Amino acid sequence: MTLHETTTAQFQERFGEAPAHIVRAPGRVNLLGEHVDYNDGFVLPAAIDRATWLSFSSSDTDQTSLVALDLAEEVSFTPKTLSAKTDAAGNPLPGWALYPAGVMWALQEAGLGTPALKGVYASNVPQGSGLSSSASVEMAFALAWQTLGGWQRSPMERALLGQKAENHYVGVNCGIMDQFASACGEQDRLLYLDCRSLEWQTLPLPNDVAIVIADTRMRRRLTSGEYNKRRADCEEAVRILSAKLPGIKSLRDVSVETFNQHASELPERVEKRARHVVEEIERSVRAIPLLGQGDMLEFGRLLNRCHASLRDLYEVSIPELDTMVDVAQSLAGCYGARLTGAGFGGCTVNLVAREQADAFSGALAAGYEEETGFSPEIYICSASRGAELI
Ligand code: ADP
Ligand code: MG
Repeated sequence: MTLHETTTAQFQERFGEAPAHIVRAPGRVNLLGEHVDYNDGFVLPAAIDRATWLSFSSSDTDQTSLVALDLAEEVSFTPKTLSAKTDAAGNPLPGWALYPAGVMWALQEAGLGTPALKGVYASNVPQGSGLSSSASVEMAFALAWQTLGGWQRSPMERALLGQKAENHYVGVNCGIMDQFASACGEQDRLLYLDCRSLEWQTLPLPNDVAIVIADTRMRRRLTSGEYNKRRADCEEAVRILSAKLPGIKSLRDVSVETFNQHASELPERVEKRARHVVEEIERSVRAIPLLGQGDMLEFGRLLNRCHASLRDLYEVSIPELDTMVDVAQSLAGCYGARLTGAGFGGCTVNLVAREQADAFSGALAAGYEEETGFSPEIYICSASRGAELI
């Protein structure tokens, strides 16, 4: 059964009628532009063909009642209990319910109608692997409330509202990329987002190229502390460099050439961190013409260099991620491979000739297991459409 059918059938069973609507909202993976979002750089994510599906109808009462099939959990809340983060009975909302409730809260804050709804949802985006299951849930609910609320916002505006929910209601300090990619994805296209201006465009990904995602099964360790240290190092680099380069606001404003002229003024660790960022921003810019020409070989090389930089300069890799990347890069059909996301665990992303994707995935799993003793989860994906009402 597809998730479309499952959520529809379970809605029927729980609420005794067919759902009026169904939406799907995808997860995402980032191809290039890692650890540059908070440096005003460019990111190159794609929405993937794994998604959250939500079957829903408006409710006759003021209670929103939600069933999360993957968790076998259910919750009810009303607009009045939202700010207290409690359910309709006054108990604290469970963690998973903060995502849909947070979206309702953010929409209300923006003055948008959020009629009570009955909903059943399920997803095949793995949770907590760095493929943004959370953003896919948020974008599904933003679209559901848009459908029932009679208002219309652009996908980017819905993404910003989802980010607000996650930042201020769930309490997770995420950037805009996840919600943006889930909301704005396009079939067989990569997304190119300027994290400073939020201007974006799409770039073609040949459909004979598969996006293969390999989950090391290593859950991210130490992330928030190490993440904050990297951010602080980037800020420190800007502070020191601005003595010679007045007017720079972030590492985005420093070209690789200019950086090389001033690199010796930075402490060693700060220099390494900042070098990753300025070179990664340059790589993302170079990707535009390469993707325009369909030059997967050269684009793949940028991914390989990105991994080396994350490993050696930004130092956010771990041995399991390096192994997964090393094995991948040695296999036929692989254009490029790198860790994706914040690092310290999670997934790698691989660009692979679609014809060879099955063989590649099998060999990658076997090679990784032989080296590490762990069996990885591997997903062969395509770039997909963003959140949509079906
Ligand atoms: P990810 O990298 O997958 O976004 P997060 O930690 O940001 O990881 O978000 C995962 C959380 O999002 C889950 O713990 C859960 O609370 C919520 N979530 C994700 N998918 C689902 C789902 N299918 N059903 C219910 N809640 C979900
Ligand atoms: Mg998330």
